[in-house]
Parts: sequence; structure tokens; C-alpha cells
Amino acid sequence: MSKLPEFKTIAEEVAFWESHSTADYWDESEIVHFDVDVYHNLLGDDPTILLEKSDYCPRCQQSLVHVSLEYLTQNHGHLVSVRDVPAYQCDKGHIYMMAETFDLLLDLLEKENQQRIIPVEILHVPVFHLQQSF
Ligand SMILES: [Zn+2]
Repeated sequence: MSKLPEFKTIAEEVAFWESHSTADYWDESEIVHFDVDVYHNLLGDDPTILLEKSDYCPRCQQSLVHVSLEYLTQNHGHLVSVRDVPAYQCDKGHIYMMAETFDLLLDLLEKENQQRIIPVEILHVPVFHLQQSF
């Protein structure tokens, strides 16, 4: 087994793990528990977060074009829609969002949760019971 180096920056650690296997450092690993608030986009695939802008899809190498998403997600138990979220998409449908855009989205959702921001629109959604189709 190899000895895990000390990392000074996240970038240094990312670069290390891109060329090393965790299997070689298994003895140094430990079980950790943490809570994660994941804001899935209920209107489509969750975008992959990019740290640096790329002209090409990291997964399929197709050109990326700028798109505008509507992001519908659950925020502390209720639905919230965020429109005009800038993102990038390839011809195969892989969707990417810049990390700073995702930070803005998380910031907006936190402000919404604390009622520190006023929605531009309130939507009313029809609700049914499945039994109504019988
Ligand atoms: Zn792609």
C-alpha cells in the first residue's frame, strides 16, 4: 500500500486522484458520514458542474452550445423554479453548468428558503388523484 500525500490545495488533490487509484490507499481510508442537500433538476438531467469553461463536451467531445435552463427543484420541502439558468449542452444532450452558476443557484435557493427574495411569478399547479382516471 502507498502512503497518501498531504495536499495543499483542492486542485492538487484533484490532479492526484486523476492519476491514482483509491484501491492503493484503501488502508488509509476511513468511513465518514455527512449530509448533502442535492437539488435535482426535476425538468431534466442534472447538469455536470464545470470548474473551467470548455468549448467541447468532456464526455463525448462534441461542441458545447450555450443554453438556458429552467431549474425546477425541491427546496426544503416545496417546489421552486429558477428560470434563465445559463448552461452548456452538446448534441448528445450532456448538460453542464459552471461552478459559479451553481453557486448562484444555491445562493438563490438559500435566500428563497429564508424568504429574503421575492418570486417574479407564482404558479398554480393542478393536482389529481390517479383514481380519477378510472
Ligand atoms: Zn456530450
